[in-house]
Amino acid sequence: MMIVSFLDTTLGQDYATERLAMVREQIQRRGISNPTVLRALRSVPRHEFVPDDQRGLAYRDRPVRIGYGQTISQPFIVAFMTEMLELHHSSRVLEIGTGSGYQAAILATIIDTVFTIEIIPELAGQAGERLARLDYSNVNVRQGDGYHGWPSSAPFDAIIVTAAAQHIPPPLIEQLRDGGRMIIPVGTPFLVQSLMLVEKSGDKVKTRSLMPVRFVPFRRTD
Ligand code: SAH
Repeated sequence: MMIVSFLDTTLGQDYATERLAMVREQIQRRGISNPTVLRALRSVPRHEFVPDDQRGLAYRDRPVRIGYGQTISQPFIVAFMTEMLELHHSSRVLEIGTGSGYQAAILATIIDTVFTIEIIPELAGQAGERLARLDYSNVNVRQGDGYHGWPSSAPFDAIIVTAAAQHIPPPLIEQLRDGGRMIIPVGTPFLVQSLMLVEKSGDKVKTRSLMPVRFVPFRRTD
């Protein structure tokens, strides 16, 4: 009896039950099957990436407010975008739009080194501290306008943009390795946008629209 109630308490505290249900009902049921992606979604404590007063919403099938007018994406969108990148253990990945750091933590569970850029200084600072506290030591967070990418660490095998841009930033295409993949929502702020997959092969850049999505706007410093 003691043991049972102890286990219940432990599970309740780390939301393991909610997390497993989230993966089963929101992610697998909608067709995500990559075992590495599913394992990452099962392991990263999503409730640690939302503000205290939003914890009850952390595992719901929706985006959650993280302050400064920004949101942490819906779990399915995180899983779908991650799966589309076709990552390998040794992939070098750049994320634009660190936000809470959740997507970066998912990437860090799958690959060796993650580079991520956030334009809002407070969010960049908080995400950096959170990722360090949770031991995601393979994530490099930088504050700045991600439009310019991270030239000194390029080329990247994959780039993931988590804010909706009006066009695909040319510097990001440049910093994609030959054979690399980028996933980016493109379209008008606050209206329906298109999640685009960009594949670079030699001089050719192939783009494909995957599904309608709604992301917060990609901002510029200038
Ligand atoms: N990937 C995040 C989702 C964050 S929402 C997560 O897992 O929580 C998108 C984020 O992109 C916001 O935090 C916003 O401030 C940031 N952003 C918008 N324009 C940007 C730009 N030009 N460069 C870097 N970050 C940007």
